[in-house]
Formats: sequence, C-alpha cells, structure tokens
Amino acid sequence: MKRWLMDILACPASDCRSELNLEVYTSHNLETEDEVVEEIDEALIRCPKCGRWYPVIDGIACMLPDDLRKEGKQYREETAFLEKWKENIPTDILKNGIPFGLTEQ
Ligand SMILES: [Zn+2]
Repeated sequence: MKRWLMDILACPASDCRSELNLEVYTSHNLETEDEVVEEIDEALIRCPKCGRWYPVIDGIACMLPDDLRKEGKQYREETAFLEKWKENIPTDILKNGIPFGLTEQ
C-alpha cells in the first residue's frame, strides 16, 4: 500500500471511524516517472480511539470487521503477522490486543 493511503483511511469499526496511526516495519521505494513513492510492505495500523490494530501484510492493509478476523484463514494470517513482528509490536497488543493478541500461546 502507498503511504499516502493512510491520509484517507479511517478505522472501519462502525462506532469508531477514527484516524489511524501507522508503524512501518518494511517498505520499499517505487520510482515512477516523476516521483518516488513509498510502498509499504509490512506495517502495524493502530486506532488511537477504539484500540484496535490492523496488519499490513504483503502490501495489503487487512481492515476487516472483528468477527471475520477471529476465525479461519484470516485469523491464521494475522496471528502469523503478530508472531513475525512480536519484537516490534507493542506488548499491550500482543497481550490484550483488540480483537485479539498472541495470548493463546
Ligand atoms: Zn477505531
């Protein structure tokens, strides 16, 4: 995802819609004809209002409703993301993340 996307993204929770914070873990520069755009590969998106977190995985911001994140393939991918970046992800997310953390392990 492009870094400037953060300027227009809002928290998808229906009772929230807050602006979001971004912590980039890996990115690369994409050179176009007249500018260099930062393309974010892996990052943590945090909502300062409701406390939810969202992952950016392989350049895609995964911003699904809680109930779709807590099961199946999506849950496994997002848990793998937490595991991969646990040295960087704030402890409060790992322990008590919304909608989940890494507590089961
Ligand atoms: Zn929110």
